[in-house]
Amino acid sequence: MALIKCPECGKKISDKAKSCPQCGFPLEELKKANPQTVEKVTEREEANISSEPKSKINIKSMVTLIGALLLGSAIGVGVQFAYNNYLDSQTYQEAINAYSNDNLDEAYSKFIKIKGYKDSKDYINIINEATISTINNETSEIKE
Ligand SMILES: [Zn+2]
Repeated sequence: MALIKCPECGKKISDKAKSCPQCGFPLEELKKANPQTVEKVTEREEANISSEPKSKINIKSMVTLIGALLLGSAIGVGVQFAYNNYLDSQTYQEAINAYSNDNLDEAYSKFIKIKGYKDSKDYINIINEATISTINNETSEIKE
């Protein structure tokens, strides 16, 4: 059921009503005489009266909000990933520096932290072997 505005008294009434229940204006005759006038009033008034446009806006803003949240968390994850990668690269660089300074203990502990980053596993193996051979050398030195 659509609502129209009574041309006589301005009250909102059903377009199915033959006459205005408020003032008795004969709507039937108006529709017959000039149906377009009534239709235009109906469309304009419905847009104002109906709560539909409002709820559509709410859904729209909800979708926008959810989209913004999803985008925000996606960016958050991306930033977190980039930051972790940055930290890994920093630790890697520190480990390389420690390694080239013969500070194998420090290099080893740093490479362990970022295990899987670039060739850190290879360095861990190299340090492991180097440490074992050092121990063997020391042991053999003691034996001698
Ligand atoms: Zn009326």
